[in-house]
Amino acid sequence: MSYQDIILLIDSPTEKDKELIQKAYNFALKAHEGQLRKSGEPYFVHVYETAKILADLKMDISTIVAGFLHDSIEDGVATEECIKKEFGDEILFLVNGVTKLGKVKYRGAERHIESLRKFIVASAQDIRVLIIKLADRLHNMRTINFVRPDKQRRISLETLEIYAPLAYRLSIRKLSRELEDLSFENAYPKEYKETIELKKNKKEEILSRLEKFIKSVKKALAEQGMINIHTDYRKKGVYSLFKKLETHENDIEKIYDLLAIRICVETVADCYKVLGIIHGIWRPLPGRIKDYIAFPKPNGYKSIHTTVFTGDGSVVEIQIRTFEMHHNSEYGITSHLSYKNNGDKNTEETTNWFRQLLPKIINFAQSIKNKSDNMPKWIKDLAESQDGIKTESEKDGFINDLKADFFNQRIFVFTPKGEVVDLPTGSLILDFAYAIHSDVGEHTSGARINGKMVSLHSELKNGDIVEIITNKSNKPSSKWLEIVKTNTAKRHIMNYLEKTRKK
Ligand code: MN
Repeated sequence: MSYQDIILLIDSPTEKDKELIQKAYNFALKAHEGQLRKSGEPYFVHVYETAKILADLKMDISTIVAGFLHDSIEDGVATEECIKKEFGDEILFLVNGVTKLGKVKYRGAERHIESLRKFIVASAQDIRVLIIKLADRLHNMRTINFVRPDKQRRISLETLEIYAPLAYRLSIRKLSRELEDLSFENAYPKEYKETIELKKNKKEEILSRLEKFIKSVKKALAEQGMINIHTDYRKKGVYSLFKKLETHENDIEKIYDLLAIRICVETVADCYKVLGIIHGIWRPLPGRIKDYIAFPKPNGYKSIHTTVFTGDGSVVEIQIRTFEMHHNSEYGITSHLSYKNNGDKNTEETTNWFRQLLPKIINFAQSIKNKSDNMPKWIKDLAESQDGIKTESEKDGFINDLKADFFNQRIFVFTPKGEVVDLPTGSLILDFAYAIHSDVGEHTSGARINGKMVSLHSELKNGDIVEIITNKSNKPSSKWLEIVKTNTAKRHIMNYLEKTRKK
């Protein structure tokens, strides 16, 4: 455990970088001197490990330094003045951001919302604050067994429901997978054990078959001159398996990607070449070919997935991607935050959806002062729904809705220009049209999804590109009220119908 170990993780650090890391290391050592963690280890171990996770994610030097200092005011003996003097405004800002996030302990329903809010606001100010918090939480989860059992469960639930999904949304699979599995084990020990058992039996059965199959794939690719490739298999995380089992009648036979083969190649063209070679030999399962290169997931994930019959009576999922896509899927948004990568053209593409969300989140921050009308609906809900809530069960219901709404049941749909609109799952063309503008909604006469003409009843899916066709003579009808899903659309249609009735 030395500062040199951290420096080793940084790509070509300057002398100044090295000095700064060493300074932060010594500062943290002093700020937490004599303090112990629940595990009996020196407190310093925690901030050191947090900084290490950040260095491993290739974050910029300021973020790694802030990782060292993140508890030095709250739990240590450092002061704001002293951090400002020694490390400057930027690092103090990051440390304060993380301190603010940690202030609220999630004891009950009410506090939960409050901290969720703070969390969102702070992360909007600087996304690095959020990533330090995720690294901090990851180390806390790795050592959660030393914490009191009731606290263990609370922190695990919070991680599972708030932090892991956020890491996933930022497409940092490296973090979200571990956060999910660690918190799943503590939050739902029974389900965790059951899933592990299921997985173990099934895994042993397919592992040897899979290795044989990888050999045949490599041979087939080599025969076509494809040698500079990397193959391995990736195991599905326990929690992600559990979630998938829930939607597949708990039948593990229906989970095709329990173990998936991953093939990494140099270029995008090579990805399609590999797909062609594989489909030429092994018959693909219909409906299981997903081209996330042409149509990336909203969090930026790119890869081609296909499931093929291996010829011995079983099927296997194959994921094909470039080395760069693979790196991005593991490191997500962090691969674009590193100061070494500032000239990276892909930054815009991958972080597009997030940058689009930022103004909304910032709006929320402003709305605390004056509740303005152009606040996004889910944030307005967040602020307003609390007012009428009296009983404990109402509160619980609201929080559940909120979590489901924000983290699980939103879809991201794109305009032809690439602007992202977030809507509840199950939204239709008209919901999208009204979300853009009430004028657009009112005159909607048709639409194209991903270039194809569709009816107004069509349900939207994540990642759809939707083009609304308007016609000035088109007017809303009472039928529309029955099919729309969002309150925004309903309210506009009702207003319109009310107005015409009066006339
Ligand atoms: Mn901490």
